Amino acid sequence: MTGSIRLHVAATLAAGDAIAATAAQAHYLGTVMRRGPGDTVLLFNGRDGEFSARIETIRRDRASFRVEHRTRSQSAEPDLWLAFALLKRDATDLVVQKATELGVAALQPVIAERGNTHRMNPDRLTAIAIEAAEQSERLTIPALHAPLPLAALLSRWPPERPLFAAVERIAAPRIAPVGGPCALLVGPEGGFIAAELDALRAHPFVTRVSLGPRILRADTACIAGLALLQGVDCR
Ligand code: SAH
Repeated sequence: MTGSIRLHVAATLAAGDAIAATAAQAHYLGTVMRRGPGDTVLLFNGRDGEFSARIETIRRDRASFRVEHRTRSQSAEPDLWLAFALLKRDATDLVVQKATELGVAALQPVIAERGNTHRMNPDRLTAIAIEAAEQSERLTIPALHAPLPLAALLSRWPPERPLFAAVERIAAPRIAPVGGPCALLVGPEGGFIAAELDALRAHPFVTRVSLGPRILRADTACIAGLALLQGVDCR
């Protein structure tokens, strides 16, 4: 069964409110999904939980909703962060989409020596994260931080948050369950260089972990590592 259409909105949500859709939402609802006045959608804003709402008016690029009752109260995602070396555009898009589906609370792009790029397009990645949050029934959008060089990431890392650094070709343990906040770090397609691996070893909050005997592409490593952390209570 397909669920209801869920849309993220910026506005505060309370029963009885009238809310304007964005032009993209109006187009999606009317032209793509063939919805009309009186049809129900679910709205969330990352703060007020989820509400049922009805389409009140809809034209090609304009629509408005009338908020009805609350369907879910606000709850936080597991306190799981993903730090990942910036990849080529399509691979970065995939990581942001899958990490959002897999419940990360924060995305921290990392600039690594062998990385593909130093650049990212925050608007594009935020749009991808919003779409993945809508689809995966999250009540929040993950925070997307500005890219940081690995050295800066490590020097300002909150030491009480264990950082599982995925490193290939070493005899390292698999990710072990932890309670409380945690994070996964995945390197670039070229892997971390020796100086970066030394820097990781120097910090007590870092645990180097294996994702198995095969060499995974970086985007696969992000998904596999986050999957292994699904059962872990990262709250
Ligand atoms: N080019 C490198 C591989 C890099 S894989 C080489 O040939 O050795 C890209 C990233 O994915 C790595 O930096 C690491 O973070 C992660 N990764 C890939 N396979 C992994 C594995 N088996 N265990 C842990 N991390 C892995």
